[in-house]
Amino acid sequence: MKLFLIVLSFIAVFLLSTGTELDAQNSLRIESLPGVVKQGEVCLIKVSGPDSLKAIDGEFRGERFPLALGEQNGIYEGLIGIDMSTPPATYEVKVTARDGDGQVYSGHLSLKVEKVDFGTEELSLPSHLVDLDEKTLERVRKEAKQLQTLFQGFREERLWRGAFIRPVEGELSDTFGLSRIINGKQSSPHTGVDLKGEEGTPVLASNSGMVVLVDELFFTGKSVILDHGWGLYSMYFHLSEALVKKGERVDTGTTLGRVGSTGRSTGPHLHWGVKLNGARVDPLSLLRLGM
Ligand SMILES: [Zn+2]
Repeated sequence: MKLFLIVLSFIAVFLLSTGTELDAQNSLRIESLPGVVKQGEVCLIKVSGPDSLKAIDGEFRGERFPLALGEQNGIYEGLIGIDMSTPPATYEVKVTARDGDGQVYSGHLSLKVEKVDFGTEELSLPSHLVDLDEKTLERVRKEAKQLQTLFQGFREERLWRGAFIRPVEGELSDTFGLSRIINGKQSSPHTGVDLKGEEGTPVLASNSGMVVLVDELFFTGKSVILDHGWGLYSMYFHLSEALVKKGERVDTGTTLGRVGSTGRSTGPHLHWGVKLNGARVDPLSLLRLGM
């Protein structure tokens, strides 16, 4: 009995460490990249099955995510976002599909989410950018609501294709997830990365998508937001100018605007943020997917 349990736990550890599970009954093989995911990361779900699969859908933490054939023949791909505050635990990813004859396939994968210590940063800013008057507060609330409504949209069509790119070459000045103390008071966490760049440096689209916002907002200054489909959005903040219009389709590498220091900013840089189905994720994790 004891030996049996040891063998069983060895198999379980093996399956977890590879991030792969094969469900013998239904022939859908599911793999995650990375195999073990961290808080604030994007995870690529790869599914192998018959190439005749029609409707194929995934489910993670009670939310649906779509999959479709990727660049590699016969592999279906989907993205899930692990919000920075998702409790570390092992979660089940379920995939169900149907072929042309109406036959149902399904499979599942245990996905371990690990805790991350994002660190803390203390900042000093001019008080008029922190202690806001009633009129500014009203503007800030209205803009927050505008963004919230925008991110609730879900485009069924996938507009992104292949690898994601860095929008400017510059080094990181502020990492993702930093807990921030501004003028001695706890503030909201840093939900993107700050990339160094000289004023005027072109800011490139990290993948193809649709421009869904071009606006000047109190905190984020001149801002451009792209909808890449499937609930994936990328944000480009503090621009000196925007060079695209709302409703425009862009390709990977299209110049969206220029690096600046508009909004609540202490110097020229690009704040690059990504949201995936409401999850706040590190944009750099998109670059590591290797698609
Ligand atoms: Zn930032």
